[in-house]
Order: sequence, then C-alpha cells, then structure tokens
Amino acid sequence: MAALFLQLLSILPFLVVLSSAAPLDATSSPVIQVFDALQRSDAGLSPQTLITLRGSNGSAPATIQRWTLHDAPTFALYTRPATAADVRIIVRTATQYQAPLLAIGGSHGFSSTLGKLDDGIALDLSALKQVKVDTSANTVIVGGSVTFGELLAPVAAAGREIQTGLLPCVGAVGATLGGGIGRYAGLHGLVLDALQSVRLVTATGDLVTVSRTSNPELFWGLRGAGFNFGIVVEAVYAVYPVTAPQVMNADFLIPLSQSAAVVRFFKLYESKMPAELSIVAAVANSPQFGGAAILLNIVYVGALEVGSTYIQSLLDTTKPTLHNVTSIPWDQVSTKSFFASATSSCVRGANRNVYGAGVRNIDVPTFDDFFAKIGSFYQQYPGAAGTVFFIERFATQAVQVVSDDTTAYPHRDINTHLLFNYAYEDPSLESDVNKFAKELRQSFDSASGFDTPKVYVNYGHGDESQETLFGQRKLTRLRALKKRFDSRGVFSFYHPL
Ligand SMILES: Cc1cc2nc3c(=O)[nH]c(=O)nc-3n(C[C@H](O)[C@H](O)[C@H](O)COP(=O)(O)OP(=O)(O)OC[C@H]3O[C@@H](n4cnc5c(N)ncnc54)[C@H](O)[C@@H]3O)c2cc1C
Repeated sequence: MAALFLQLLSILPFLVVLSSAAPLDATSSPVIQVFDALQRSDAGLSPQTLITLRGSNGSAPATIQRWTLHDAPTFALYTRPATAADVRIIVRTATQYQAPLLAIGGSHGFSSTLGKLDDGIALDLSALKQVKVDTSANTVIVGGSVTFGELLAPVAAAGREIQTGLLPCVGAVGATLGGGIGRYAGLHGLVLDALQSVRLVTATGDLVTVSRTSNPELFWGLRGAGFNFGIVVEAVYAVYPVTAPQVMNADFLIPLSQSAAVVRFFKLYESKMPAELSIVAAVANSPQFGGAAILLNIVYVGALEVGSTYIQSLLDTTKPTLHNVTSIPWDQVSTKSFFASATSSCVRGANRNVYGAGVRNIDVPTFDDFFAKIGSFYQQYPGAAGTVFFIERFATQAVQVVSDDTTAYPHRDINTHLLFNYAYEDPSLESDVNKFAKELRQSFDSASGFDTPKVYVNYGHGDESQETLFGQRKLTRLRALKKRFDSRGVFSFYHPL
C-alpha cells in the first residue's frame, strides 16, 4: 500500500537549479556588488560561510531542491551563512546595495509571489540547525531552518511534546511565521502559539530579541506575517508534557464513489470535535485504486478504544477498500500516517501549482460538488494525475482560547483548511488548471460561512488580497510595522505587505 501511495504522490525528483541561464551584467548588478563586498577580507564573514556567484557563462552558483518548481525564485548569488553574525553581514550588505534577497528555510514555500524574485541572493539558513530542549524551563531552542521532523525527535526524546505541522519536511520556523497548523492544534493551539521569543536579523542587519517583553509590537506581527520583518536565526518554543505516549492512527482508502459518506463524516465534526481528534483527507488518483480515491487519516491523541468510537460512523457508512486502525507512538504519526506513506508528499522538485481556502462550514452541496468535479478533473487532465486535494480538519479549542488581538494571525475561526496541489509537467495545462482551481476556490469561498474569503497565509496561492491573507482588521497595524522595520521592502518576496 505504501508503495502505491508513494507512486501516486511522488514525481521523480530532479535538481532545481536556482538561477537563470543568462550571464550577469558584471558592471551594474547590485548582486555583483554584494558579492564583491562579501568577498573582501574585512567583510567579517566566518570561513565556513559559503558564497557562490553564478559564472559568467551562466552556470549555476549552487543547487537547492525546492518542493515545487512552479513560480520558483531564481538566484544569481548563493550564500550559506555559518552563524547568526554572518546572516547579519549578508543582510546588511544586500540592503546597502538594494539587492533582492530571500531567506531559505525548509524550501517548502509555494506562493507564486516567490516567482517574482529574479536573479536574487539566496540566503540559505541550512547551517542553523540547532535543537536544544530545556526540560526544566519546558522550552526548546530551534535554529532558523530546522524542519518539523528535526524538531520532533529531540523533543520526544526529552519526554515532551510540541504542536507541529503534518509533515516532517516542512520548515518549523517558516510555518510558524504564518501560523503553523496541525494535529495538536486542539490541545496546544497553532505552532505560533508556542513561540516564546526569537532572535531576529532585521533589514538593517541588526540582531534583536523579539518576545512579549522585548519589541512586543513586532512579536505580535511576527506571529502571522513574520516573513515580512526579518530573518529568524533562532526561536524559542514552549514544550508540554506528553498527552498520550500512544495515539490512535486510523487510515482508510475509500473509493471516490463513496465520497458522500466522507463529506457527511466531516459534517459530523463541523462545529464540535474533541480537542484530541484530527481528520485529514487526501484525494488522489492512481490506476491501482481503479482511479481517483480518498485516503482518509484520523488521529486521536489518546487510547485506541476511545478514538475508535469517533470513527464508528465512518465504518458504518462506507466500505473502505483498505483500512488500518492502530495505536502508535505519538511522535511517529507524521511518518506512519496514510498507510506509512505521508512523507511521499515531501518529495521535492515537481511542478506543483497550489491553491488554498479556509472554511467554517462544511456545506454539503459544495463538498459533494467538489468531489464530482475532482472525478471529472482527473478524467479530463491525465497529465495532472499527480494532483492531490487535501481537506484538513484540526480541532480548534486551544487555537480559539487565544484572543484574536494577541497575534497577527487572523484566522482562528477557520476550522477546515483546503489545500489543492495541482501537479503537472505539461505547461499547456497551466491556464486550464488555473481556471479550474480558481473556480473551485471561489465555490468554497462562497459557502465558507464567512462574509469574505479567508486563507491561511502559508496556504495562499499568492493572488489573494491582503485582506484575505492577513485580515482587514490587522492590516493597519501590520503596515505600520512593515514601514518601521522594513521600509525598503527587503523581505518582500513571500506574501509581502
Ligand atoms: C508538503 C507541504 C506540507 C505542508 N504542511 C503544512 C502543515 O501541516 N502545517 C502548516 O502550517 N503548513 C504546512 N505547509 C505550508 C508551510 O507552512 C509553508 O509552505 C511554509 O512557508 C514552509 O516554510 P519553509 O521554511 O519550509 O519554506 P521556505 O520556502 O524556505 O520559506 C517560506 C518563506 O518563509 C521564509 N522563511 C523561512 N524560514 C525563515 C526564517 N527562519 N526566518 C525568516 N523567514 C523565513 C522564507 O524566506 C520564505 O519567504 C506545508 C507545505 C507543504 C509544501
């Protein structure tokens, strides 16, 4: 089964060359000026810091595999700072020469706004990988590019737990700066709710502490729009006692023809759901499944006997092709879920065009119609067979206990997130896919239960309004912060304010 799903979701990885082929104009490019300045012996960089410029023949300065090639940024200068001090020097120099710059954490960002960076400077944070758990303070210190998987293992080994996203490959800080949603949201809130402080390199290259007591206004803005204000070199999060060492992991493979029962199962948990429960559906297409099928993962953070009571109605109303209900260690869910093949969604280097939406209501006709449209989509576009549609229902008790004005994150009232990864290699599908994706998003927006569209910023396609991503009521404050901390728009290639 794992092999089937792997085949379904993965597309052969290949190297993503993060530069365009054209040679640089050596006389005028600000990027060249930055390169020259950083090369000088008095630049102050540590010897371990890497700096590579694209060659005059257009050869690549470095290769990094991004999760998606769609609207990917291109780089003429690759830097890999060894320390926070090196990050400061690189940012200060880039700002001085007004050269475009992008920090790279886990490389899973997919916003189309990233594609606006052409021949910029890559600031690869991959040397900043420390994870240090302090069990007496109940905190964990995390480097700027640590992934959820790299965070989870030491936290679990120290006998603590922390809320993370679904997959181990996503950058923990990258996700946090926009929100951070996942299976423990009902118990501990968004990932950003666990954030206690960060060390931030600002656009001027200063290193500042940002927390409830130090730069509190910036701390507010960092938690929801953080990628707009600087580069987090280190973050401190709260960790918690383990809720349940063993949790229920239930996986189902359900034919698309039974989607009506799946929709009604989501409807059952539309407004009330135990804090320990999460439901994620991935609709995917494979000849081995006889076409499109629904992979449903349900996790209950607690005993199997209790968790099983929450899936009984699904068992009563569907005939799964396969199902597997087990009790597993809590920290293995991200790798063992979806019949132990969830991480196949981590495969990098494919062309994925991603759209998101957020709803409060499970509007049954809209969701029924959605499943019908998916069936037709797969039939009409065999070249997009790798497309996966995710429906994510995480409990929100601990998300909603935090008052709206505590953080910039504006969507504590979304209870179901939709994430649609359109995967295709044939560029001629682009306009049809975009049309389909926008119509589908519109249908969910109209039936969302909200007056205006709401999208979790890290699930944003990049064409949404700032109101949709950041919330109308937050914008004045956020724009004032942007003006104060990044008036020249240094951090402006990912959902800029
Ligand atoms: C397969 C997949 C699964 C996902 N699952 C979840 C999930 O379960 N929950 C969830 O909340 N989100 C999820 N996401 C969305 C994810 O939160 C965003 O894609 C996020 O931007 C990824 O961060 P990154 O560091 O991996 O990516 P990057 O592309 O490296 O970064 C994205 C943006 O954040 C900035 N950034 C990254 N690190 C830093 C830093 N240290 N300081 C300042 N800026 C930084 C980058 O400059 C860039 O602008 C998922 C995405 C994918 C592709």
